[in-house]
Amino acid sequence: MPGLDSLRFTNRFTRELPGDPDTRNLRRQVRGACWSRVSPTAVCKPELVAHAWEVAKLLDLEVTADNVVAFAEVFGGNRLLEGMDSFAMCYGGHQFGNWAGQLGDGRAINLGEVINQRGEHWTLQLKGAGPTPYSRTADGLAVLRSSVREFLCSEAMHHLGVPTTRALSLVATGESVVRDMFYDGNPKHEPGAVVCRVAPSFVRFGNFQIFGAREEHDHLRQLADYTLRHDYPHLGQPCAENYAAMFNEVCERTATMILHWMRVGFVHGVMNTDNMSILGLTIDYGPYGWLEDYDPDWTPNTTDAQGKRYRFGAQPQIALWNLLQLGNAFYPLVGDAKPLEAGLDRYAAVFQQGQRAMMASKLGLSSRDAAEEEPLVAELWPLLNAVETDMTLFFRGLAEVRCEGAAMVDDAGMLAPLEPAFYQPELVDETHRKLLAGWLKQYQARVREDGTPDAMRRESMNRVNPLYVLRNYLAQLAIDKAEHGNYNLVRELLEVLRHPYTEQPGKESFATKRPEWARSRAGCSMLSCSS
Ligand code: AMP
Ligand code: MG
Repeated sequence: MPGLDSLRFTNRFTRELPGDPDTRNLRRQVRGACWSRVSPTAVCKPELVAHAWEVAKLLDLEVTADNVVAFAEVFGGNRLLEGMDSFAMCYGGHQFGNWAGQLGDGRAINLGEVINQRGEHWTLQLKGAGPTPYSRTADGLAVLRSSVREFLCSEAMHHLGVPTTRALSLVATGESVVRDMFYDGNPKHEPGAVVCRVAPSFVRFGNFQIFGAREEHDHLRQLADYTLRHDYPHLGQPCAENYAAMFNEVCERTATMILHWMRVGFVHGVMNTDNMSILGLTIDYGPYGWLEDYDPDWTPNTTDAQGKRYRFGAQPQIALWNLLQLGNAFYPLVGDAKPLEAGLDRYAAVFQQGQRAMMASKLGLSSRDAAEEEPLVAELWPLLNAVETDMTLFFRGLAEVRCEGAAMVDDAGMLAPLEPAFYQPELVDETHRKLLAGWLKQYQARVREDGTPDAMRRESMNRVNPLYVLRNYLAQLAIDKAEHGNYNLVRELLEVLRHPYTEQPGKESFATKRPEWARSRAGCSMLSCSS
């Protein structure tokens, strides 16, 4: 396996798209450019906390005892390799529904684009490697706690089968970063860190929006042509029709991504249009969270506690709203609203159809006629919401409910596999138990109609309903240890989350519901944007 010095850089973004002629690293409005040249800020003591070997492999890299020091230097931002061409991207975005103007990579610095032996292109991006022209009033840095969260969740999502940016490495910088976690006048020194993210492209809806808003249509077209050429080459040459086709495919991919989020119980927390990828990847892991007890109104983001714009159940609607903003940005290219509206309709169709299929698979049922709504699904959600029921454990438990020869089992026996999903079993009263048993009987009847043997149903359900997800409190436990220099739990979680659907002996504690102490602890049930 070749080492760091054999990485081959292609750097198409900086070679093919207009850059900012001003190379000073000063905060400013950058007009007429897709990117600004900027180098990472060196740190005093880079130390590799963890890395994902599969991501290294995508780059034809292997981390060994011989190169780990150099690896930490490069991915902590201390050294640029031959061929790297580091830059920050210019983009805008709608934040919480309002146009925010220029945002840009305020603490992300792209190192360059690599081509691997299989001819795949991967862009390497450091997050938290110092200020850029887009840093506005902030410092360009990231703290260890948010970097652990980004690193672990990127990889967890990938292994769950959710489209996402990847994370190559997590490097502690040895420097301290000041953060006022709850914006309440209590700033603290926290350990700093840098994550190296990896994706085929980090272009966001906001990269197009900024040119739309500034009426820089020439640049808008150049970025669209670039994206079509490299990310959507199967759609053909640049022309109004193919820009619309690209928008249509972004709509489809976004629908697919959201379906996966809803399947696994992921809440992004900050679905601003600058946090939406043009490739339909989950991007920017900030105050995200995982549903524990099923509650469609839950948001992990304290900044969003009032309006709950980005709550779990609203994510499909918000994605559509974001696509509408992207559609507006595409309008000057397409010159006609109809094909763009068709893209939005396509989003709705892919989502609705996909949701039916996804729910059928979560329940282990055959998908019926696309037009037929599954009444069982509609009746299930209120039941899960009525008493605190862990979504992840419920679906794993449901896979264990006997349907063959079920008439023999009484209500209590039927509910037994679901018992671990109740947060407060003593509060689950008879009425609720009866309702749930009633639902289970309908479920069993429906399974029997399908004629699926229990063993086969369990197997198929366990392929779409994860056992191990990055529960908010698990990430926090790993952070608590990491902040004291112990990285074992970060590494162990990374390893467990590589096989989220498979029961792993000895790892039972990673599949248990949130303990009582975590119910109201910061980082476990609520997160601020301060990171
Ligand atoms: P986010 O809400 O994390 O997506 O961030 C919105 C914008 O703020 C993006 O342009 C980020 O790059 C920028 N930003 C967030 N945190 C920092 C920071 N610590 N330093 C500089 N820019 C930041
Ligand atoms: Mg962002």
